[in-house]
Amino acid sequence: MKVNQAEFVISAVGPGQYPQDALPEIALAGRSNVGKSSLINRMINRKNLARTSSQPGKTQTLNYYRINQDLYFVDLPGYGYAKVSKTKRAEWGKFIESYLLEREPLKLVMQLVDVRHAPSKDDQAMYEWLLHHGVPVIVVATKADKVPKTQLPKHLKVIRETLEMPKGQQPLLFSSELGLGKDELWALIMQHLDF
Ligand code: GDP
Repeated sequence: MKVNQAEFVISAVGPGQYPQDALPEIALAGRSNVGKSSLINRMINRKNLARTSSQPGKTQTLNYYRINQDLYFVDLPGYGYAKVSKTKRAEWGKFIESYLLEREPLKLVMQLVDVRHAPSKDDQAMYEWLLHHGVPVIVVATKADKVPKTQLPKHLKVIRETLEMPKGQQPLLFSSELGLGKDELWALIMQHLDF
């Protein structure tokens, strides 16, 4: 995919603010700090369009980035941030749940997990929920440059097993630092958009 134009559109706090132009949407889910902003920036070749997190967990908004006139990346608020109150978490859950279940232009969720660690309970719950509801999802293992190459297969196996990924499914290895996985990820996105 050749990105000619990428722009931040809106931090939406509710459905009334979602774009109306029906371009397909690709959402990014994952805990705070997993590398969502960095992945967006790498995918569109920009250093700083998506903010890299200064205050993890604070923003309860859907951040829309338009890519060419083709699609949106939608950065979901990071989950599993301990300092957010239970009430806030429940609100977060409802807001995101309705987006994921009801948003018609949503074509794919990229669920990010840090390749260094076994997926958390929140990661597991999120993945299981997406599968259960039939939301198309691909797992992206971020920060691949932080693990020695020889160790990577072992880490990917832990992710696959902890998430109980269906047979034939694999996490996609990604490094925003190196650009590793970028072309593969674009190819997968295109498959889900029928481009
Ligand atoms: P977000 O909260 O999910 O948006 O995470 P960020 O994109 O802000 O990344 C959190 C931290 O991890 C930042 O310090 C990034 O520089 C770092 N980071 C993100 N992706 C990578 C990566 O692929 N490699 C390395 N080495 N660091 C990364």
